[in-house]
Amino acid sequence: MVVDKEAQRRADQWFHENEKKLLEENRKKREAKIRDEMAKEEKRKQEDLKRLHWLKCPRCGHEMTENDLSGVTVDVCTLCAGIFFERGELELLLQKRAEERKGIFRRLIGLQ
Ligand SMILES: [Zn+2]
Repeated sequence: MVVDKEAQRRADQWFHENEKKLLEENRKKREAKIRDEMAKEEKRKQEDLKRLHWLKCPRCGHEMTENDLSGVTVDVCTLCAGIFFERGELELLLQKRAEERKGIFRRLIGLQ
């Protein structure tokens, strides 16, 4: 009778521990699934925002077209004529203009 009680206690403990382990594993799987769904939702939101704002003027919201400005492609608003420079484009344009001015000066003094 004592042996049966001890065996029952061990069996109960084993089931309790396994059940706890299974519940913990299921909780982790659910949390991972939720994180994955939230990441997908965030990505969808970012894609929607990009699609909504792509080539739209940040000032008036109208369409923008890509125009060539001294060999640098910039976005120009079709309504307010605002110009949008992407990273590095303004520096590239200024650098090209500085080189053009040097060229004009050199031609003027007969170096070229
Ligand atoms: Zn505009």
